[in-house]
Amino acid sequence: MRKRRNLFTILTIFLFSFISNANLPPPENEVLESGNAAEINRFEDSKSLNLGRFPIALPADSVHEFDITKYIIEVKLVPASTTNKFRGHVTIQGKSQITGLNILSLNFVGMVVDSCKVNSSPALFTRNNNLLYINLNGSYNPGNSFAAEVFYHGIPQAGFYFDQNVYGVPVYYSFTEPFDSRYWFPCYDYPHDKATCEVICTVPTGNFVVSNGRLYSVVNNQDGTLTFRWMEIYPIATYLISIAASSFAQIDTFVQLEENRLPVQYWVYPQDSPKAELDFKKTPGMIQFFSGLWGDYPFLPDKYSIVQAELGGAMEHQTCTFWGFPLTGDARYEYIAAHELAHQWWGDWVTCNDFANIWLNEGFASYAEALWQEHEYGPTAFKNHLMAFEGNIFAARNGSVKYPIYNPPTTYLFGTAVYKKGAWVLHMLRQILGDSLFNNGLAYYGQSRSFSSANTEQFKAALESYSGQELDWFFDQWVYSPNYPIYKWSWVYTFVAGKFYLDLSLSQAQVTPPVFSMPVEFKLSTAAKDSDFTIYDTLRNQRLSLVLSSAPTGIVIDPNYKLLSADTVSRYPYLAGDVDNNGLVLMGDIVYLIKILFSGFPLPSPVAAADVNGDCQISLADIIYLVNYFFHHGPWPRLGCPG
Ligand SMILES: [Zn+2]
Repeated sequence: MRKRRNLFTILTIFLFSFISNANLPPPENEVLESGNAAEINRFEDSKSLNLGRFPIALPADSVHEFDITKYIIEVKLVPASTTNKFRGHVTIQGKSQITGLNILSLNFVGMVVDSCKVNSSPALFTRNNNLLYINLNGSYNPGNSFAAEVFYHGIPQAGFYFDQNVYGVPVYYSFTEPFDSRYWFPCYDYPHDKATCEVICTVPTGNFVVSNGRLYSVVNNQDGTLTFRWMEIYPIATYLISIAASSFAQIDTFVQLEENRLPVQYWVYPQDSPKAELDFKKTPGMIQFFSGLWGDYPFLPDKYSIVQAELGGAMEHQTCTFWGFPLTGDARYEYIAAHELAHQWWGDWVTCNDFANIWLNEGFASYAEALWQEHEYGPTAFKNHLMAFEGNIFAARNGSVKYPIYNPPTTYLFGTAVYKKGAWVLHMLRQILGDSLFNNGLAYYGQSRSFSSANTEQFKAALESYSGQELDWFFDQWVYSPNYPIYKWSWVYTFVAGKFYLDLSLSQAQVTPPVFSMPVEFKLSTAAKDSDFTIYDTLRNQRLSLVLSSAPTGIVIDPNYKLLSADTVSRYPYLAGDVDNNGLVLMGDIVYLIKILFSGFPLPSPVAAADVNGDCQISLADIIYLVNYFFHHGPWPRLGCPG
């Protein structure tokens, strides 16, 4: 007879620590049944709409021919004009990064280019394939700087909108992530080349213009227009450069961050102003909370602001989140405010190097929603938020979740996997590293890539460097591989010779990847107490045997919500009645049962295999039961407890 017990881990648990069983999530298979809902990141859906307009291939990480150091974007908005609403003059300061750069190729779509200049002299240009090529009137070697100017006009086909709000008041605003900035100003429209920025915007009197950074001046041109000059001294990605103009009410508050007083400002439609005060009132507290986690708000001392506009959803422009949701006065979208604010660190301070790494923006901001819930409302709210994410992920199992969160298909750039699974990936990293290493590791990562961009490998390297832990194993399976583990598990126990023997079976049923190697936590309840134990599961099929001093009354997988997984508990996978572990139910099983009880033969595995009458103990009654089965057509053998 094979002694299969030798293959199994045998543990005896002596000490159980008490854990509360309050606030546990409902069984996950309830969520599983929710089916295949559409993938909705409701509050940032419009990013996907933008993407649908311009589904270009994701660029690879690369150094390009030049480095843009500053954009000066002068815009005159003439909404009364039917064909010439938008008049632009953009100055692009940059440096060559190659030998002999003589053509500057910029992304620019639509609108009419009137003329170009280089270093104040007229320059020839051509347009082709959504690119604008400017002849640099000379040859530029690495480090040589240039200033190119583009004068243009028209009506942007996208990226910038002449709209009006529900009160019939005009609202002019930009909204471009990921690729639409090129519709309203010529630029190198990829997030790894950040530059400082000045926005000088002229609008009809009665409008107020909000943009990135700090407002330096407002000039009344005495011709029915005002000119607002905003300056962003911190590097900014093109998709974060923004303008919103309307007849706003301004609400001023602030947050004190050590010695810095940061203005917090809301520009909203006057009719919505009282509701905005209520909806956004926790923003200063959020800034303090996130500053405590990851380091001070990155754009001190300029401002953080929320600006009402007509985009569908919200958008995390640097220092000025645009808000397209209804203002309700009941803070029902507070979690979205947290998400957008968190982007100031993750997205704006540290920007995804390219959109293949978009989870470094969206996964982080989504997890920040949950962190705010945890901080402000406690562990139940936190778990509920993660559980809702998990439900979204299960519902998208045949959609975005089929793909890795790194470099997803373009259609899923803003899908459930990037947002919700991305958040869960961070949550699991937190479990593996512990709160201190995780939080400080994120702050370290932020510092190491501050005001710049990052890719997944740089994030991983920063965490590894800070924690001293190798994390390839984690990133390979959670970031670079699709899906999530599907655990099928079961347990049986019985009692013999003064001890309770519990066998637990854990299998992984997902197809790809075949195995997730993860710590899997269980909560074991006995008559005496509850305790948690962890299996380091690295196998497709795994079994665990425990010897207990009191009867188990229940087991729960992942009781503390540490693992993104679909879990199904089922009957223990074993042929009941096969007492001698030979794969068959024969008369020999009676013989072996007798030897166990009277000759001290080894217990089978699972031990409950010998408890054929299912009365939670191994005794003479089991021999009688098996004899009855074979010779008197008695009932089928059973497999211990729970029955
Ligand atoms: Zn976001």
